[in-house]
Amino acid sequence: MRELSKKDREYLLNTIRTIENFPKPGVNFKDITTLLNNKEAFKLLMDHLESRYKEKEIDYIAGIESRGFILGAALCARLNSRFVPIRKAGKLPYTTITEKYSLEYGFDEIEIHIDAFKNIDKQTPNVLLIDDLIATGGTAKAAANLINKAGAKCMEACFLINLKFLNGDEELKKMTQVYSVLEIS
Ligand code: AMP
Repeated sequence: MRELSKKDREYLLNTIRTIENFPKPGVNFKDITTLLNNKEAFKLLMDHLESRYKEKEIDYIAGIESRGFILGAALCARLNSRFVPIRKAGKLPYTTITEKYSLEYGFDEIEIHIDAFKNIDKQTPNVLLIDDLIATGGTAKAAANLINKAGAKCMEACFLINLKFLNGDEELKKMTQVYSVLEIS
């Protein structure tokens, strides 16, 4: 496997830009566009993810809107896998399954196509869930629930960044394996 050294991880972390108080006061937004437009950094990340998952039996990669689409689709191309989008409510055109989850104030909803995992002849396909970042874990838990409700198994949830101090991965670990390339404590 293309293991990442401590130096590699520090390098990747330094290619990610932090925007203070975006999109609202108090949030330190992790902007991965600066990693994506650095071709050495993006290649290093994708080489690592490809080598981590190439021997695993992954039938689909489900990416969470919107940065999970970028990482998920790029990884699909590397692994010759199948991409499934998990989107904010009202964006997917066909019949969907919806999952509601709580935010700090109020709630949000994400959706998946009802037939997202039905185009292969397998009872319970294996799905890798991917997103750029886990904060409270609410979005990822809802996404893992959607995968299960759509008849597949979420075998691992993969994140580029884990905001470890929020402990968002604790609850998610009860549902699936969790892997984060970078941790911020
Ligand atoms: P959560 O449900 O709290 O784990 O939030 C995860 C989702 O919100 C992911 O799709 C992230 O892209 C986005 N997100 C949350 N916090 C941040 C942050 N500090 N920087 C960038 N994206 C974030």
